[in-house]
Amino acid sequence: MKTLVFCDFDGTISRRDVGYNLYHHFSGGRNDLLLPDWKAGRMSSRECLTREAEMVTAKTEEIMAFLDQFTIDPGFPEFESLCRRNGVEPIVVSDGLDFYIRHILSRNNLGHLHVLSNIGHLDGAGIRIEFPRTNRECRRCGNCKGEIIEEFRERAGEPVTTVFVGDGYSDVCATRAADLLFAKKDLARYCLEHGIAFTKFDTFFDVSRALIDLGHWRA
Ligand SMILES: [Mg+2]
Ligand SMILES: [Zn+2]
Repeated sequence: MKTLVFCDFDGTISRRDVGYNLYHHFSGGRNDLLLPDWKAGRMSSRECLTREAEMVTAKTEEIMAFLDQFTIDPGFPEFESLCRRNGVEPIVVSDGLDFYIRHILSRNNLGHLHVLSNIGHLDGAGIRIEFPRTNRECRRCGNCKGEIIEEFRERAGEPVTTVFVGDGYSDVCATRAADLLFAKKDLARYCLEHGIAFTKFDTFFDVSRALIDLGHWRA
């Protein structure tokens, strides 16, 4: 059966959460006041992201220079090659912003990856966010990963196994759409609390090993 692979970016492909740290740094920590309402589902991601972005007043060069400190999971390049060897192109699904995802991926020779995310416009004074995707039903996410996975499944035109790898609250909708779920940090806690089956992972080395061991892929 064909496999489709979806990976979160912030805190999953990138070791640290780039979006959070970006808003935190350039808002002087004021963004933290919004997060309890967002984590509890009382504030939508769109409202939270829009308000966080409004708190950023920084030049484009400052924002881009801030990105230099972020590294990716050491097992991700190997995982990406493993996917390719097995005829699968992993898709990056993110409720973060395109400019930092593409910048960090390109720096790691992964600029060819397909990215579905929100758009952040750097206008010289800060960040303005655009949400290119219209969610069908979800009112929680900016860019609903659960809906994206279901859309890919429908479009495949044949039975597929969907794999999702993530770490946080922006991945909650994906937990219901993925056949095989790899989770860590807040997402692993969420799955435990809600009785959702998942495989715990630390790095993408674990994900690669698990997919080979489960017999999905050849090494
Ligand atoms: Mg994340
Ligand atoms: Zn959603």
